[in-house]
Amino acid sequence: MSASSVHPAQSQTAPAPIVVAGGGLVGMAVALALADRGWPVVVVSDMPAKPDGRTVALMPQSLALLDSLDLGETLAQSGAPLEIMRLIDDSGSLFRPPPVAFEARELGLECFAINIQNHVLLKTLSERVAAHPAITSITGQVIGTRMDQDLRQVILADGNSLAASLLVAADGRRSAIRAALDIAVVHKDYPQVAVTAIMEHERAHRFTSTEFHTRHGPFTLVPLPGRCSSLVWMTAPDRAENLVALDDAAFGRAVEDQAQSMLGKMHPAGPRGKIGMGIDRIDTITAPRCVLMGDAAHAFPPIGAQGLNLGLRDIRDLLACLEHRSDAGAPEVTQRYQSLRQKDISTRTLGVDMLNRSLLSPYLPVDFARGAGLLALASIGPLRQFVMRQGIGR
Ligand SMILES: Cc1cc2nc3c(=O)[nH]c(=O)nc-3n(C[C@H](O)[C@H](O)[C@H](O)COP(=O)(O)OP(=O)(O)OC[C@H]3O[C@@H](n4cnc5c(N)ncnc54)[C@H](O)[C@@H]3O)c2cc1C
Repeated sequence: MSASSVHPAQSQTAPAPIVVAGGGLVGMAVALALADRGWPVVVVSDMPAKPDGRTVALMPQSLALLDSLDLGETLAQSGAPLEIMRLIDDSGSLFRPPPVAFEARELGLECFAINIQNHVLLKTLSERVAAHPAITSITGQVIGTRMDQDLRQVILADGNSLAASLLVAADGRRSAIRAALDIAVVHKDYPQVAVTAIMEHERAHRFTSTEFHTRHGPFTLVPLPGRCSSLVWMTAPDRAENLVALDDAAFGRAVEDQAQSMLGKMHPAGPRGKIGMGIDRIDTITAPRCVLMGDAAHAFPPIGAQGLNLGLRDIRDLLACLEHRSDAGAPEVTQRYQSLRQKDISTRTLGVDMLNRSLLSPYLPVDFARGAGLLALASIGPLRQFVMRQGIGR
């Protein structure tokens, strides 16, 4: 179907569809969830991202949503459970607290999350989207949007446009739709780059994720099926350049050294990624007949596995706003979405920012406060359980 064939003129017989812009994990998941509830959906997406060693750890609420979209089998086959999370201070601070271990069974859970490669999850989601009778997929790029006759016009790079009852902007952290709507973003760059890779290793990970807190940010290994873990190494930009330029053997040795050989010898399996780190604070996430979600609505460094989990909660809340509605873009829908999402987004953004800055800070009082916090977590069970519940969005 071509873009220009979905036109306001059609709205005399059929309602204008919901247009989802962005074919990432959030865009694909929201398209499926909406279509499953009977909304006609058009997805506009440009080229899919290439595999770059990135994974997502998905917490119980996210797993429930994805399960309802028929992704349970993919998660079970290609994901690994994260049963224990260890935090190790490797910052060289004078106040070095003992390692902290969070165990899912302390909360009566089998695991905190399932960790899966982004491209595996995206492939299954894209297949479901392609097969769904209520979804039309268009390969293209959204370059602008405006209101016309109480519908939202979505303008594509090829000159065509779509009329939407609601535009869901899931077009990532450099959202062109957000820019076209003049929505303010408070952006801050961090002096950090995340190097990502899938690592094979000699010893079993025992379903434990380990996060070393270094002076340049966390260095994290998260379990995958078999003797494999995903690496997120946040480091200084010049160090990141050097790391990605290493050959496989030297890169494996560098990761093993930084991990204090806890998993034995290591070797990268597949391509590596390199992502610049920053944070976006966006207070307004709606416009007439438009909602922002996923990284278009909130973007921050991968600390505590929050980004996609938050994006999937955007979807959950949009679905709640649409219940018993016939007009997807009615002002009541967008206003309620804004008020439902605001607190969750702002507290996660602030929490990740504070944690990251506490690692980067050279000041002793900040070190002391962070060390005291970790010490309290290590020794006070109820506090640890409270933090664990917050971490998994309960
Ligand atoms: C190293 C790393 C590790 C992470 N680990 C975790 C984790 O463990 N748990 C977790 O919950 N989150 C994690 N995250 C965050 C998570 O990966 C993101 O929040 C999530 O993938 C964002 O998905 P998205 O669909 O919103 O955005 P994106 O993945 O950026 O997708 C946006 C899509 O829109 C398309 N697009 C862009 N512009 C246009 C346009 N103009 N028109 C049409 N299409 C367009 C893009 O091509 C892309 O397909 C991590 C992030 C990083 C960097």
